[in-house]
Amino acid sequence: MRKPGRHFLQIPGPTNVPDRILRAMDMPTMNHRSPAFGELGLRVLTGIRTIFKTERAVAIYPASGTGAWEAALVNTLSPGDKVLMYETGHFASLWRSMALRLGLEPEFIAGDWRRGVDAARLGERLAADKDHAIKAVCVVHNETSTGCTSSIPAVRAAMDAIGHPALLLVDTISSLGSIDYRHDEWGVDVTVGGSQKGLMLPPGLSFNAISAKALDAAKTATLPRAFWDWTEILASGETGYFPYTPAINLLYGLAEAIDMMHEEGLEQIFLRHDRHAEATRRAVRGWGLEILCQEPEHYSSALTAVLMPEGHSADAFRRVVEEQFDMTLGNGLSKVADRVFRIGHLGDFNDLMLMGTLSGLEMGLERAGVPYRKGGVQAALDYLAEPVN
Ligand SMILES: *Cc1c(COP(=O)(O)O)cnc(C)c1O
Repeated sequence: MRKPGRHFLQIPGPTNVPDRILRAMDMPTMNHRSPAFGELGLRVLTGIRTIFKTERAVAIYPASGTGAWEAALVNTLSPGDKVLMYETGHFASLWRSMALRLGLEPEFIAGDWRRGVDAARLGERLAADKDHAIKAVCVVHNETSTGCTSSIPAVRAAMDAIGHPALLLVDTISSLGSIDYRHDEWGVDVTVGGSQKGLMLPPGLSFNAISAKALDAAKTATLPRAFWDWTEILASGETGYFPYTPAINLLYGLAEAIDMMHEEGLEQIFLRHDRHAEATRRAVRGWGLEILCQEPEHYSSALTAVLMPEGHSADAFRRVVEEQFDMTLGNGLSKVADRVFRIGHLGDFNDLMLMGTLSGLEMGLERAGVPYRKGGVQAALDYLAEPVN
């Protein structure tokens, strides 16, 4: 059956791809060894540095974010290496299980999925590691399953305070281009990114931003690696090329996305996300529902996870919203399956799209028979109506 109007894809990735990017990708394929490709290659390889805020080369993979997770681990670590990870939620858990399967020895600091990283706890664990057996600390910047963002400078400071030499690996798959992030300034060794969330692109590209220390570690790291090896990809990248066929049309899109982010300005983009997140939280509180994230300083500006009232199914609610208002919300993952729904408010998004989203939610609550108070939409509207300077 035809559904008129635009579908509202309000999951925290993949996000709505702006028409301008779709048009930029609508190009014939080309010879990826040609001079014309080299120009596109250099444009994106240089441009992406400004998004990670790094002066150094970034590796771009034709893969989803999971590929760049693997690249970060296999390029820097050796079999049996201890890595310290922090259970912020589902994505941290997946990264840990990948580390296990690769033959690393991840240690998981347990979390309750309702806050970000407690840097003091992390620091205590590192301080106990007197002989520096821990080779890397892995942190998810924005935990997409819970809507909690962790402070990377706080993690860095905890490591520096005791002079722990471990590498710092950070997953920014759902924060890059939505939430302030600074690879160089924050002293991160490998930053993992993906195309389909804040960068407004379809899925299929992922990234490693790499520090000098991480490049050094790669020289002695012995985990088997071939496709993910930085050596060749960084060497060909110097002239704008790739060691294998790159995802050419996604790179056209990436070039456009980088231009768009510069036109709006990264600082402006972060403020826009902060504002939409605040409006969303006001709506949720207005409905009398509970935000999953319990630490206000960890609230995510990219998405909001909402707890369903006891005895009500989040998935049943999402189905009503999907069928009756043509809007897709994010589901609860693993530990919080059917207990939460997630509202994505990241990427190419504006005030009226947010008000459409929140209106669909309020109408959905009514139709699904979920106990709620009216007025959430009004609370968000009042906030967004305040003049922005
Ligand atoms: C989406 C996401 C991933 C997984 O990325 P894929 O592109 O699905 O492989 C990993 N970490 C975080 C934080 C994410 O949001």
